[in-house]
Amino acid sequence: MQIVTPYDGCGKCLVGVRRLSRKSDVSNSPERQADQVTKACTSVGGHIIGWADDWEVSGATDPLTRPELGPWLMGEMGPYDGIVGSAVDRIGRNTHDMLNTGDLMKSTARSARPSAAKAPYSAGTWTSPPRTGDTRDRDVGT
Ligand SMILES: [Zn+2]
Repeated sequence: MQIVTPYDGCGKCLVGVRRLSRKSDVSNSPERQADQVTKACTSVGGHIIGWADDWEVSGATDPLTRPELGPWLMGEMGPYDGIVGSAVDRIGRNTHDMLNTGDLMKSTARSARPSAAKAPYSAGTWTSPPRTGDTRDRDVGT
């Protein structure tokens, strides 16, 4: 199920992120990832405005250079409030990479999209690290 609704400025307009290094990887099939992404998105009260699907892309690839996810992260795909994936490794190579991606989203968001660094993933169990003096990220589910 891949429901896509337009960006509406609600603050929880999320981009679904999927990645597969091998299409034969059954445990991470596109359908299963779509399911998990949709559930994670729903759990934080968000909705999917688009999908960044990178097939045949290794987990070692820098998120910025991924054909689908890269342009979103670089702010080339229009406004969005965050990204949601089925697991950490579907977005970045590791947690460190993921945090860098969150930082990047914050820095590219500029003033126009201040909430872009909210990046729930993994069934809503993670949000970007709290910053001193920044309370915007703390209303996303735990
Ligand atoms: Zn919205």
